[in-house]
Amino acid sequence: MENKSDDNNAPEKTIFDAIGQGDFAEFKNILAQHKGDVNFFDENGMTALQHAAYKGNKDMVQLLLDRGADVNSGKHEYNYTALHFGALSGSSEVCKLLLDAGAKPTATNSVGRTASQMAAFVGNHHTVATINNYIPRSEIAYYSLPRGQQTEPYLPPILVDPLHKFVLGVNIHPVRLALNLQHITGLLDSADKASNVLEMLSKKEMTRGSDTNEVMAFKYHYLSYILREIHNIKDKQKPVEKDEKKHDIIEIFSKKLLKPGKDGVSLDLMDAFLKDCVREFPYRECTTFHQMVTSLTSKDPPPALTVINCTINGQRGFVDAIPYCSTCGEEKPAKKCSKCKSVQYCDRECQRLHWFVHKKACNRESSAPVASTNAKVNIDANELSSELQNLIAG
Ligand SMILES: [Zn+2]
Ligand SMILES: [Zn+2]
Repeated sequence: MENKSDDNNAPEKTIFDAIGQGDFAEFKNILAQHKGDVNFFDENGMTALQHAAYKGNKDMVQLLLDRGADVNSGKHEYNYTALHFGALSGSSEVCKLLLDAGAKPTATNSVGRTASQMAAFVGNHHTVATINNYIPRSEIAYYSLPRGQQTEPYLPPILVDPLHKFVLGVNIHPVRLALNLQHITGLLDSADKASNVLEMLSKKEMTRGSDTNEVMAFKYHYLSYILREIHNIKDKQKPVEKDEKKHDIIEIFSKKLLKPGKDGVSLDLMDAFLKDCVREFPYRECTTFHQMVTSLTSKDPPPALTVINCTINGQRGFVDAIPYCSTCGEEKPAKKCSKCKSVQYCDRECQRLHWFVHKKACNRESSAPVASTNAKVNIDANELSSELQNLIAG
């Protein structure tokens, strides 16, 4: 602000101002009039893309990328890249756009920190996970071309984007993955092929020499394992109408995993299922495998899901206070059981899948007086009762 100069009215300056004010309409307008290159710098050596990333404004970031903004350009005195700024903003969507545009996640600033390390430093855990879980689309597209004597590729080209989307997911709760599959076109029908490609990707990560990425190798193995299980359930199904069948598979899979153990709380079946997954990881020499096994065989072991989540998404301290969906582990779910208000869900689908577990507790809880009500987050009572009717009918 103190550096007022004659350049203040330059078009570049108005672009920086519009970004600063977060005024997208104005920004779009000015940028449309600016015919030149968008890779110009402000007095601190920052590009417009870096400013937009720092603001966490995905629309501005997208527009600048469309206009040819160089994602790895910048003269910032501490060598911050656009991805560093996006990571600091806490916007996972901005980081994803930058990564898709070729931002280098390994680039370090002047104190040797990567973007993901900076995000961790300021407590943006979702952003950390987004960056650490990122893989370029080309990694998967590789398997969509026939190799050598192949007449058919390992992966139909139409499944490249669906599988990429599946891999980039940050919430690795098996029920969330199953629910995601329902909404990713085509992947559930080719779960066997996708599972196979994921194992090949896992192997590739383990054989990159100095660039070996054990964590990613394990993640691929984990996703492959989940897909294979879902494929097995599908195989055992009797052929019925297609949509109904799809629905059933997710239902069978989640019921199997969410069924509580003898104490009525711990998820013994899920734990056993996930421990088998770790046990089947073929690269037993690696540090990641040893760490997981040490943790799982310790005196008072944490749930396998916690161990796997820590491995894939990094340590997550001080986030215990965040509410989770009782079905799929998604953070900060939007809804509560309207009857007892003691459990939270993403949506009605998650609530429905969890009802077979929750119904007992719900009746107990709801007979106790409820201290406060919050109409905004509650599921509409009529919706719920019709939901319950459906369940009883089914
Ligand atoms: Zn959920
Ligand atoms: Zn309830």
